[in-house]
Formats: sequence, structure tokens, C-alpha cells
Amino acid sequence: MKVLQDEQRITVMEGPWTPVDVIKQVVDEGTQEDPFYVMNLGEVVNRYHRWKELMPRVEPFYAVKCNDDKVLVSTLAALGAGFDCASKAEIQLITSLGVKPDRIIFANPAKMASHIRYSAAVGVDLMTFDSEIELLKIKQHMPHAQLVIRIRCDAAVAQCPLGIKFGCDPVSEAPRLLKLAAVLGLEVVGVSFHVGSGAAETEVYARGIQWARALFTSAARAGHRMRLLDLGGGFAGGSHSCLAHVAQVINNALETHFPERSVQVIAEPGRYFAAAAYTLATMVHAKREVASKDGADQDETHTMYFVNDGVYGSFNCVLYDHQQVVAEPLVPSTAAPRPCSVWGPSCDGLDCVLPSSLLPPLAPGAWLLWRDMGAYTLPVASPFNGFPVPRVLTVIDAALWAVLKDLWPISEAHFVHGGPIVVPQTPPLSPPSPAACPSPSPSPSPSPGHSQPSPSSSPPHSPALAPLDDSHSRLVFVECALK
Ligand SMILES: *Cc1c(COP(=O)(O)O)cnc(C)c1O
Repeated sequence: MKVLQDEQRITVMEGPWTPVDVIKQVVDEGTQEDPFYVMNLGEVVNRYHRWKELMPRVEPFYAVKCNDDKVLVSTLAALGAGFDCASKAEIQLITSLGVKPDRIIFANPAKMASHIRYSAAVGVDLMTFDSEIELLKIKQHMPHAQLVIRIRCDAAVAQCPLGIKFGCDPVSEAPRLLKLAAVLGLEVVGVSFHVGSGAAETEVYARGIQWARALFTSAARAGHRMRLLDLGGGFAGGSHSCLAHVAQVINNALETHFPERSVQVIAEPGRYFAAAAYTLATMVHAKREVASKDGADQDETHTMYFVNDGVYGSFNCVLYDHQQVVAEPLVPSTAAPRPCSVWGPSCDGLDCVLPSSLLPPLAPGAWLLWRDMGAYTLPVASPFNGFPVPRVLTVIDAALWAVLKDLWPISEAHFVHGGPIVVPQTPPLSPPSPAACPSPSPSPSPSPGHSQPSPSSSPPHSPALAPLDDSHSRLVFVECALK
């Protein structure tokens, strides 16, 4: 039997619960100091069913780059999704789950030769291209590939536009590339586009589908047998986003331009499946009171909160994915919200999560929640400056567990029932060996009667979260002394 890592275990929740309840339970234990995620696997299952219900003709091929969490991709495989992989390593990850190569599209229009050869070796035949050079490369390394031409079709507004990098012009470039492919003896079987990640326009899918129809005609004229339409990604993923409207646009355009059922229609949603399932919890470990920036009122102050995850960790999405993140105190407060900013734990001034926000006053040791954090966060995060990347606690409702537990590649072995809820922990750095690093003589010497616990005897996650409130009186004392 395969050995499962902590992160691959799924905790089954009985009775009523929410991800926030789970976070509260973990925090109330009093030993958790690192940031962590609670991943509600049921959200992924529900979203898959919603997709199938709203767009029965469109098969989702999950874009692995969005979040390559093994439990997430295994669950999508179990439900029957296909996968969009962009590299050899992503293809390796998905085929290692046992997913058949015909459920994978290698959807990177600019591939490395060795990755193309790997794709050929494992039988992933479907791949995209948007240039002449890519056609020549594919001709050399995988002449039997099933090619999909990627055209440019940009949403009017998108969180991350992709047309600036990929997609040939459907009018001035695509017809010539289709002819060249035919001359080279390569098989083009479909058209793909990506409207931009986090697209704010829905009509754009109708434009893309219409372009694809036109190219099906010119491809057929060039001698290709077209059978695949790939709508790419761009679907919103937040808890409050709605798939119904975009589904209607797509269904109508498919009925108009592709009424024949012989054409396979796929899409490559990333964000849609990943974002809402993950809730991040971070702890305030320090704060500073500073004069308000506007300076209008001398007495106005602004609080800088320092939390244990920042732009080098999960909040890289603020820089790279242009996400607007929202902080919520774990424990709701009736106190009036005050101007503040939220900063990551590193020593870099760039490490600002929220430059200007309003939160009720928070004491060090307080926790903040961040919802919808599953897309384009974890795979990019780094432990820069020594701060660990948050670990994931995956949970599922008992009712859904009963459905999933026997769906390959998920098995009964993945699930944990009952007992305390345990967040996977980043192992502490091993202490330096005594020979390599002799312990310094204690200086200043501890006062008699104060036995100093040796560092090695303290548990890896000692409750370092003693409330700081009692230090307040000491601070007042010090301030008086300074006057
Ligand atoms: C990133 C990407 C996706 C996923 O996009 P989302 O906006 O997250 O749905 C799909 N297809 C390709 C080719 C991509 O590069």
C-alpha cells in the first residue's frame, strides 16, 4: 500500500460544521503558531457537479498550475475530470495518479523539446501550438501529436491577461499556420483560446467560439479533421461568484456555432475549482501603532499588524495574481473598526498584505481568516526568510465521504475519522549538534532559583502564545519612568 503523507489525509467531519469552526477548534488548542489552510473538499465536489449541471457539453480539464495539491487533483480525477498540464512535471504528477493520457492536454504553446518527447513517451498526444517554430519542433519530436491551435481572444477586462503572451491572431496568422501544419504532415484536431484568468467579461466566450467555428472551416479546407474545441480557463472561483451566466453564454454559442455533437468540447478551469475550497488562517504576532498617514489629525493613529504569512508565502497572489484579499477576525468583535495595515513576517518592506484596511483592534495572538485562497497561492509560495509555507488540513463532510471513499484514486486509506483535528506541521529545524556548536556560557547568568529550560527540552510547538495583556501594566510603568 502506498504511504500517504500527512497532507494527503482527509478528516471526516460528523454533524454540522464549517471551515471557520474547524479553524477555531485548531486555534483553541493553543499550540498552533504557523499559518494553515483548511481545505473543504466538499466545495470541489459541489463545484464539479454544478459545472456538469450547467454545462453538460463541456468537459472540465483542470489547469494543474492553479494548485497542484495532491488531494485536490486526486479528487478531480476521481470525479472524472481531465487535466491541463503545462510541463513534464505536471504530466508526471497527473499520470502518477493513474489518470489515462487521453484525459490530459499539454496546453502550453511553447514547450521544451524534452517535455514533448516525454509527452510522446507516456502517450499524451493532445498539445497546443501558436507558432511556426513550435510546429517544426513538434514535427521533429512527436510527429504523431494531435494538435490544437491556440488563438488569441481576450476578455475586455481580466485579473491576469494571457493574450499578451500566447495565442496567434485568428485572422492574420491562424489560417497560414493551419496550412503549414498540413504541409508538414501534422494533424491539427482542434482550436483553443484563453480569455484571460479571472475574466470580468462573459460575452468573450461567444466571440472565441465564433472564431473557432471559422477556423474549423479553414482547417478542413487545409485537410485537417477537426474534432475538438477547447474554451480554456478564466472562470471565476470565489465563493460568491456565479457560473450560471457564463454557462448560458457558452451554451448558446455552442448551439449556434457547434450544433453537431461529434465535436468534443473541453475547458481548462483552474481558479473555478481551487479558490473557494481553501480558507487561510494567519496569526497576528506583532503590532505597531504609528501616526496616521494623512496626518490631518495629530491624535489619529494607524495600527500595523504583522502576521505569520506574507507576500513571499500565500499572499504572493497579491503581487502575481493581482488578487484583492480580505481579512476577517476569527473572533468577531463589536469594537469599532480602526484604520490599519497588515504585513507579512519577513524583513522586506515589500511584504505588505493589505496597505490600508479597517479591522477591530486585535491583540497579538489573534487570528485572521482569509477566504477563497486556493488559487495561485500555494504552488508559488516560498519559505523566504525562514517562515514556513502554510500546511493544509483537508476536511470533508461525512455525507460526501461516503460518496468519495471508493472512487479511485481516492481510497478508504485517505480518510481519518474521529479523534482530534490535527494540522500537518512543518518539522522544526533540527538543533545544531553539540560538537559543531558548543553552547555558549550563560551570560548574564540566570538569577538563582530561575531554572532555565534547555531549548531541546521544549516541545516543538511550545505554547508561545501567552496573552500579552498582562504586560500592559508594565508598559505603563516604563512610560512613567521615561517621563
Ligand atoms: C492558467 C491557465 C488555465 C487556467 O486558468 P484559470 O483562469 O485559472 O481558469 C487554463 N488554461 C491555460 C492554458 C492556462 O495557462
